[in-house]
Amino acid sequence: MVTGVASGTETIESDEELPGIRKSEAAPARAFGAVGGHPLFIERASGQYLFDIDDNRYLDYIGSWGPMILGHAEPRVIDAIVRAAEKGTSYGAPTENESHLAELIMQAVPSIERVRLVNSGTEATMSAIRVARGATGRAKIVKFAGCYHGHVDSLLVAAGSAAATLGVPDSPGVTLGVSADTIVLNYNDSEAVALLFDAHGHEIAAVILEPIVGNMGTVLPTESFLQTLRQETLKHGAILIFDEVMTGFRVAYGGAQSIFRIEPDMTTLGKIVGGGLPLAAYGGKADIMDQVMPAGKIYQAGTLAGNPLATAAGATTLEILRDEPPYQQLETLGELLGSGLENAAAQVGIPARMQRVGSMMTLFFSESWVTDWPSADRCHRKRFSDYFWGLIEHGVYMPCSQFEALFFSARHTREDIEQTIAAAEKVLASMASH
Ligand SMILES: *Cc1c(COP(=O)(O)O)cnc(C)c1O
Repeated sequence: MVTGVASGTETIESDEELPGIRKSEAAPARAFGAVGGHPLFIERASGQYLFDIDDNRYLDYIGSWGPMILGHAEPRVIDAIVRAAEKGTSYGAPTENESHLAELIMQAVPSIERVRLVNSGTEATMSAIRVARGATGRAKIVKFAGCYHGHVDSLLVAAGSAAATLGVPDSPGVTLGVSADTIVLNYNDSEAVALLFDAHGHEIAAVILEPIVGNMGTVLPTESFLQTLRQETLKHGAILIFDEVMTGFRVAYGGAQSIFRIEPDMTTLGKIVGGGLPLAAYGGKADIMDQVMPAGKIYQAGTLAGNPLATAAGATTLEILRDEPPYQQLETLGELLGSGLENAAAQVGIPARMQRVGSMMTLFFSESWVTDWPSADRCHRKRFSDYFWGLIEHGVYMPCSQFEALFFSARHTREDIEQTIAAAEKVLASMASH
């Protein structure tokens, strides 16, 4: 194993984190800080496998933190990237394939009537919030503790208590001025949402959330929570933003909104939509999006936005997902993996809860279900760390934080899943005997 520091990730060493921004643990998650170790340096990837620089092979359950739903180096995606590269890597001008990808996105997610392509999920949420503020003429943003929306200054804010609090910056470099307009509530707390809107509804530009959370581990919304958000935002003229950077094309082709049948006003997409290249998107109702330049006055631009390599990878990935949907298989194998991991813990008396949607899941080392950040925070971090390193020893590469979702791809086979469960059984049994 290699020792060293991954670039840009070395600053976070402990998991003594404030709530809300688990990502001081997660964006730098690849440094393995949360599990107290050094990261593996990866040399190449193929299908369901990663290979480190010492040529050890791992079954990959991170999938680049979400994008690789088709597996690594999917031949049709690579072919599309190569063909695009031969025609030049950037023009700074419109292309047909950019419009084609936009069409694919709007067909998949009908609440998106207009869409803009950007380079990262962070840019997508940052832009969506600017548009929401510009369109409403209001300043305040509501977010939920434990939800991550990229490293946007105004969203790097946590609460620290179950009650609504004024935003306190969670990272050096984020000023109080920037965070003061961010209000943090607990996920699934419908009552707090209703109370807040009663008192401050006319000041709120937008509510942003992960409609299924991946970034405190996998946490599902209650149906009444999403309904309350939809009702209160409509009633008070605030914009509801679903951050589907992780869930888009993952939990279903149409994202979480297609599962719950709740239409947000705006949606952000990333990860899968770029097919493994840097590309993300934001969009929504025409009357909101038409306020973005050049049609409207709200500024947003990007030198490399709609980059031809990224649109080739993204469009090819979406076409494959549309024409050969893997979601049934992902659900079948997800059920097998989820119940297998949960049973492996139960058999040896280690308290654990499996929370899962399709191919996205988290085994929480907890006695109770995780529904919000305070309940996530009660998980047994040391046990998670032992579990993680034990699996690495067995060639299984899972997310290195209790507060990340595991993903698998359409290339993972039933044998891979069974092998993973067998490895988890061994690891958990040895943890229980210590
Ligand atoms: C990953 C993620 C982001 C940030 O995307 P980047 O491309 O890493 O900037 C935003 N929101 C959610 C829900 C995410 O999972």
